[in-house]
Amino acid sequence: MLTQLRDIVEHVSKVDDVHQAFDILVKETCQAMHTECCTVYLANDEKQRLELIATQGLKFKGKTIHIGYQEGLVGLVRRSAEPLNLAKASKHPDFKYFPELGENIYHSFLGTPIIHRKQVLGVLVIQQKKPRQFSEMEESFLVTLAAQIAVIIAHAQTQGHWLISDKSVEIIQGIAASSGVAIGSFWWDNTQPELSEVYPASSLDIDQEHERLLLAIENATVDFRRMRKKLDSEINKDALAIFDLFTHLLNDPMLRSDLKAQINKGDRADWALRQVVESYSNRFARMTDVYLRERAQDIRELGQRLLYFLYNTETSSRLELKEPVILVVRELTASILAGVPKDKLLAVVSLEGAANSHAAILSRALGIPVIMGASCNPNALHQKMGVVNGYSGRILVDPDPQILAEYRLLQTEESEFSQMVEGEISEQACTKDGCCLEILLNAGLSADSNLIINQGVDGVGLYRTEFSFLLQNRFPSEEEQVQQYRAILNSYPQQKVVLRTLDIGGDKALPYLPIEEDNPFLGWRGIRFTLDHPDIFLIQVRAMLKASLGLNNLSILLPMISSCQEFDDAMTLVWQAYNEVKKVSPQLTKPQIGVMVEVPSMLYLLPMLANDVDFISVGSNDLTQYLLAVDRNNSRVADVYESMHPAVIMALKQIQETCERYQLPVCVCGELAGDPVGALLLTGLGYRSLSMNASNVARIKYLLRQSDSSELKELAEKALMQSYGHKISSIVFSYLEEKGLAGLVRAGNK
Ligand code: PEP
Ligand code: MG
Repeated sequence: MLTQLRDIVEHVSKVDDVHQAFDILVKETCQAMHTECCTVYLANDEKQRLELIATQGLKFKGKTIHIGYQEGLVGLVRRSAEPLNLAKASKHPDFKYFPELGENIYHSFLGTPIIHRKQVLGVLVIQQKKPRQFSEMEESFLVTLAAQIAVIIAHAQTQGHWLISDKSVEIIQGIAASSGVAIGSFWWDNTQPELSEVYPASSLDIDQEHERLLLAIENATVDFRRMRKKLDSEINKDALAIFDLFTHLLNDPMLRSDLKAQINKGDRADWALRQVVESYSNRFARMTDVYLRERAQDIRELGQRLLYFLYNTETSSRLELKEPVILVVRELTASILAGVPKDKLLAVVSLEGAANSHAAILSRALGIPVIMGASCNPNALHQKMGVVNGYSGRILVDPDPQILAEYRLLQTEESEFSQMVEGEISEQACTKDGCCLEILLNAGLSADSNLIINQGVDGVGLYRTEFSFLLQNRFPSEEEQVQQYRAILNSYPQQKVVLRTLDIGGDKALPYLPIEEDNPFLGWRGIRFTLDHPDIFLIQVRAMLKASLGLNNLSILLPMISSCQEFDDAMTLVWQAYNEVKKVSPQLTKPQIGVMVEVPSMLYLLPMLANDVDFISVGSNDLTQYLLAVDRNNSRVADVYESMHPAVIMALKQIQETCERYQLPVCVCGELAGDPVGALLLTGLGYRSLSMNASNVARIKYLLRQSDSSELKELAEKALMQSYGHKISSIVFSYLEEKGLAGLVRAGNK
């Protein structure tokens, strides 16, 4: 039976056409189960009905036949989400006879729901003329088959196939990468050459291939410079860092020598390029850290541009658009954004990519709504009318006039609001009743140190130092690190800058030091790695200290501390590095030392460490992950990763109270701090320092200025009494609504 099951699933999954696929399914299932009738119904939630999609044995000539969710045995299977096995179906109280199907000849019925991630996608039914109680084995065969079919259906539906026909509006869900609402017609651009479509090719003239490559590198360099210049006046420097990264990579001796070596083997330049770019980008793609994984895209973008210039020797072509459009692209790149005039670009829908790519950062800076990872058929979208909701990640295709009118209103409100908050970014984050918060910036993880001097922030609350370690083929030297840290410390001479020591290992494996572990998040990570490599740790801390000479604004933050022993060991090394630098540079001042609270054990150990640390930084991303035992990067359990989980909120309260008791300055630097609902709740819990990504600063400051700290305190007290995360979110959301601020998150629910 296992072979039959495998065969059916394999045959079904190979077919692109939904009807053909299900025809195979029903036919082969009848054979496998020795029965006369098998039918598949797919759920149409919008119309609250099950639609017959394929059958063997019933009267069905491709007409639409539907059964309401409340009707008959099929409806019962959907409602109960359980199999139903009846030898005499007509005796069941829910039995309903559908004359148009000619069901009367069948007596026995075995139906099972097709479930994917808790959602009933449809119902699979087998029927037989003779009364027959299907055996337990047969029942579990059908259940297993339905589970496997569910995965195929879910996948096909996210690809834009296999959707039930007559929906009034098609909704495609992607990842919200840049906020804002756009209304207009879609434009599918598939004019760029694709690196993934370059196939093995060799050349006898190796010198000519080297020349082609060099010319392409030269042209790409000029092109990146031109694009950077073009955008220079429009957006801030950190968003432009991508072009510097590209130029830097184009001059990277290792990349060049790898390309050269590949061509020397006899490969044509484009094939050599594909292989080298893929091996580089795969290094990043394998990382579990979302941000770093997305750097793989930057490398691919660079490859795409080089490929373009291998095929086109003249300056790059630009997309000529007469009207403003919602651009649909395979993968949004910084070059595409720079290439299309801003007044012609309403929004972008990218089939691939994710929210932290550089292209996404750039689009946020340009204020263009972007949705990434939208699984759809781009040819079907071309020149259709639609809405892009950059808050919720939803794309509406051909919506009716009423929905359009609603979105037009939202769009107007939104743009007025954005203008207002950005204009007030420099104002302090003080609540109406005079409670002022410190707003800090999360920075780092960028190859470029040319960071925006953000007027809206009070300093840098978290500088992640991992990137330069991951981008190279060796550990960066002490001097290289000094330069990098000096640049950031120098950008905020009057404000504090928190540099976090290397949080590498496990999920963020170095290309030159592979780590294979069964449970990387519970493994050799953060301080555990650096304590085992005191050489690396000492170099980094010395570099930080040297970089701070004369500036005296350095704070050092230790990640992933889980015990007092780890802290003591780390401090022994910190003071060793301090004494070494002090000997040569007596003007060195002591840095502030902080620990991240992200491993739950720290909740209990804080009082023991209170005398020895200067500050605490709460990493709510990892704290949530470890408290709820849920991998923060695993989409299968994404719904279990609840940042508003009552236990997380209680833990945050406990940390805040302990810090207050021991007079320890505390900041929250996880994503929660930059989220409107999270920021309000944290303020209510008593936090007075929040560190967030640059894109959230203006909104959060504005939101805090409209709030009242005593009201937020009450709100937090109420939240602490809830048993469910969604209730906590809705309490805060109601407050936002009361204050007329729901617009900050409302678009996210559309
Ligand atoms: C966190 O865990 O919340 C945090 C800020 O650290 P990172 O996201 O870099 O793990
Ligand atoms: Mg962390």
